Amino acid sequence: MGPIRAAFIALGALAFACRALAAPPVTIVIDPGHGGRADSGSMVARTLSASNNATSPSGLREKDLTLELSRLVAARVEQIARERGTPVRAVLTRADDTNPDFARRAQTCADAAPACIVSLHFNATGGSAKALGSLAMTAAAARNPNFEADRAFATGLTAACSAAVRQFLPDSRPRAPITDGHLHGGQGSNFFFQLARHPALARTPKCFLEVEFIDHPAVQRGLLDRHDDTFPILASALAKHLVEFALSR
Ligand SMILES: [Zn+2]
Repeated sequence: MGPIRAAFIALGALAFACRALAAPPVTIVIDPGHGGRADSGSMVARTLSASNNATSPSGLREKDLTLELSRLVAARVEQIARERGTPVRAVLTRADDTNPDFARRAQTCADAAPACIVSLHFNATGGSAKALGSLAMTAAAARNPNFEADRAFATGLTAACSAAVRQFLPDSRPRAPITDGHLHGGQGSNFFFQLARHPALARTPKCFLEVEFIDHPAVQRGLLDRHDDTFPILASALAKHLVEFALSR
């Protein structure tokens, strides 16, 4: 190789490195559902966030599980970014046992200018405790100009989640995404309502992910009793999928 060609190659490599360093980070927002000791916000203002919804047979609360899993996903996202040398970061809407109302959570999302937004939850049937499966929810098509993209995001994320969950719960299945049309008498999710108040987020893929039905005894045994072992594996699968999705946009 001649010295001139070598110099051009070196310059090219330097330019590539500078672009990578200068590129703004691709951001993934993870919203740990619920939190704190009390509901926050109000239904009138469409900011109401419940402190907790689902509880497992042993008494594990959804709000604590969402925070634990979200922290693990965020840490894994940043680890993958370091390993790949790609500027990806994760932003949490809460980092402790507090319950920001949905206006505050949506503002955190808008400030982050993310590539995608996922609100992590755990489901419950509220009685029979027989349902199994990973399930995502998007804003209903009538209120959502980004419905098809949200549905595609939700479907991919559910598949990634379910594949990881089935390592511990072979009978679990990915469910087709649902919409929020049934919530609050047809008004839909308060979080989606608040996110829609930020026009810059209109085309940002977003969904709720209900990891599993935690009132099912098999979920307690297979996923929750060993959550120190199962959650890091689940978080890795979610983080890997989210990073690949975010970088593909
Ligand atoms: Zn929830």
